[in-house]
Amino acid sequence: MTTVGPQLQRLLAASAIVLLAALTTQVAGLSPNQEEERGRQKPLANHSAPRERNRAATSRPASTAALPDVIFTIVYDNNDGPEGLTSDWGFACLVKGLEKTILFDTGANGEILLHNMRRLGLDPATVDVVVLSHSHDDHTRGLAALLEGRSDVPVYAPSGFPASLNAYIRRTRATLTVAEEPVLICRGARTTGTLGKDAIPEHGLCVDTRSGWVLITGCAHPGVENLAARATELVGCPLHLVMGGFHLPRAGESSWSTAAARLRIDATLKRMVELNVQHVAPLHCSGDLARGLFQQSFGARCELAGVGAVFAPCELNDRQDE
Ligand SMILES: [Zn+2]
Ligand SMILES: [Zn+2]
Repeated sequence: MTTVGPQLQRLLAASAIVLLAALTTQVAGLSPNQEEERGRQKPLANHSAPRERNRAATSRPASTAALPDVIFTIVYDNNDGPEGLTSDWGFACLVKGLEKTILFDTGANGEILLHNMRRLGLDPATVDVVVLSHSHDDHTRGLAALLEGRSDVPVYAPSGFPASLNAYIRRTRATLTVAEEPVLICRGARTTGTLGKDAIPEHGLCVDTRSGWVLITGCAHPGVENLAARATELVGCPLHLVMGGFHLPRAGESSWSTAAARLRIDATLKRMVELNVQHVAPLHCSGDLARGLFQQSFGARCELAGVGAVFAPCELNDRQDE
């Protein structure tokens, strides 16, 4: 396997940073302080995952020149971002740069979704396709506002949605596809197929980029490690980045003692390392305990971000090299 040449990678990284800066300055009254934010979430200790081994197995095949440079923007999340954006319980991520602009999940509230997108300079009318990860309101209820005045926008959902939610989606005049098996959304984007059919059915979205495959998860109720395993199998190589809600136990939750929560998170971490996941960005419902433990394990390869965060996979490579 060959990675993108270092010169090209530096070029891509530079363009990603420029874009990041351009997007960031569009947020009015800006005080993003992302560095400050990162500083506040320092690793708890320093026992990193085996970085050299992971780097040696970087997942990009040789023929990457034809692939687009994909940008992922978190437009809805409960973790705070720059001033001017609204954080709220839920998740949505806009994927730009493929043949189609894809919105993965829609958050809980359409007004907040549209507000954040506009503040980030992202035109909601440019969304070509919506992928809904699972049925929960904090991922689906922004859809009606997003699609208002439009018709026949393709919406992909996992199998097992309640009838009331299917009816809600159809009222938006969207074209609903139930993606029980993996579905190709467009070149470079495919769903994982539905997991967790006996509990909360959910699928993730795999996106091909110049740096490798990215998996986006909504809440990861079937287990983020299980979605990552399915995605790895599907794309045939280790994932460059797994981002989204990891839904791991939060300390102090009634059903979890801290010790049990830690065991569960450690098991998830171990599996993610075994799968040779290169970078992680635990967002939304991942929980502070899991976010801290992921950062402890993945070090600089873990991004603790919130609403407004922009991910350019090539930039992650660059940061890892620092
Ligand atoms: Zn959920
Ligand atoms: Zn959720």
